[in-house]
Amino acid sequence: MGDVKEVYLDYQSSKPVDPRVIDGMLPYFHERFGNASALHHVGDVATEALDESRRAIADYINADHDEIVFTSGATEANNLALIGYAMKSKRKGNHIIISEVEHISIRNIAKYLERQGFEISRVPVDKYGRVNLRKLERRIRDDTILISVQFANNEIGTIQPVAEIGTLAEERGIAFHSDAVAAEGLVSFDVKRDKIHLMSLSSNDLYGPRGLGVLYMKKRYRVNPILIGGGQERGLRSGTEDIASIIGMKLAIDIMKKEMSTEVKRFEGYRKKLIDTVLAEIPDSYLNGHPTERLASNAHFRFDGVEGEALLLSFKDKGISVSTGSACTSKTLEPSHTLIATGLIHEEAHGSLQLTPGRFNEDEDIDRVLEVLPDVLARIRKMSPIYNPKTR
Ligand code: PMP
Repeated sequence: MGDVKEVYLDYQSSKPVDPRVIDGMLPYFHERFGNASALHHVGDVATEALDESRRAIADYINADHDEIVFTSGATEANNLALIGYAMKSKRKGNHIIISEVEHISIRNIAKYLERQGFEISRVPVDKYGRVNLRKLERRIRDDTILISVQFANNEIGTIQPVAEIGTLAEERGIAFHSDAVAAEGLVSFDVKRDKIHLMSLSSNDLYGPRGLGVLYMKKRYRVNPILIGGGQERGLRSGTEDIASIIGMKLAIDIMKKEMSTEVKRFEGYRKKLIDTVLAEIPDSYLNGHPTERLASNAHFRFDGVEGEALLLSFKDKGISVSTGSACTSKTLEPSHTLIATGLIHEEAHGSLQLTPGRFNEDEDIDRVLEVLPDVLARIRKMSPIYNPKTR
């Protein structure tokens, strides 16, 4: 590849830790190594760091500090929310509603809960991937205990009507959980405004360290613990707290608070350029996801007669990292469940490309992708037995 710069446009699947976060974490690996459960001075230092981070996270989402529980990531936060709340509430009812476009972790937890005797309804989405509120309301029953709908989709970037879902849930006395991971750093959160009772977050999605997540849990919506042990996190999540990562998440939030508005504007510029150029210049190309209710950093396309994998590998040859869908399921040959839920057939869903710019991209990265894409597509289509150009 010679001197050509590597381009990374797959921030939705993984983000580098911000070097400023790493700097701030370093003392917590050695000088400030204490255990927050210890009562001596070394332990106090850890306890202070734990409290400081808990308050910063609570402030970020407009919650109280004692409503924040640290976990090992968003997967665990989702497990704690759904399994923990289901177990806590099983005497009240055994019916749970999720959407058709949830992250694989929620989908598989729902399947697990089905095997435990809970009933799960999966509410459909429209062609843009948005949950249909009327269909959601029709699925609510007297024994519904929990609704879980993501804040925004991690593949196509569609933002869900969370405030409307929260209002509906609260009116009916049902808990509302939202996996907010994909929207972190891109929208402003306010759990009180949106009436969210349980919310999952991950540190890495804010350019903090991997392996740390948070479950926000409104006071009346406490869950049963799923990890039993030393009783840390007020008994809700046992295990010695990873203070370095916990401080890392706080530092990531501090940076995000200062930079989010300019960063989001920059991403909106990238998104506009990607979407406008692709749709104008590439024949038989379509936008997946919502035209306006979408994350600032998400551009997701479908191309007739193209296999997403072929596209990804051609980009890989040119030193450009992109995605065809959710990283968590990309090693299977199944088409994206999200794209299928929006009404695409298998062949259409397979011909998709997900571009998610992030903090360390520069304008030239976007230009490079747009420069490479037409040739790459033309070559794949030339060899494609299924491509019939539509007249334009
Ligand atoms: N929810 C969403 C929306 C995600 O994109 C991911 C993956 N980044 C997860 C949950 C799971 O996160 P983790 O792998 O950090 O546990």
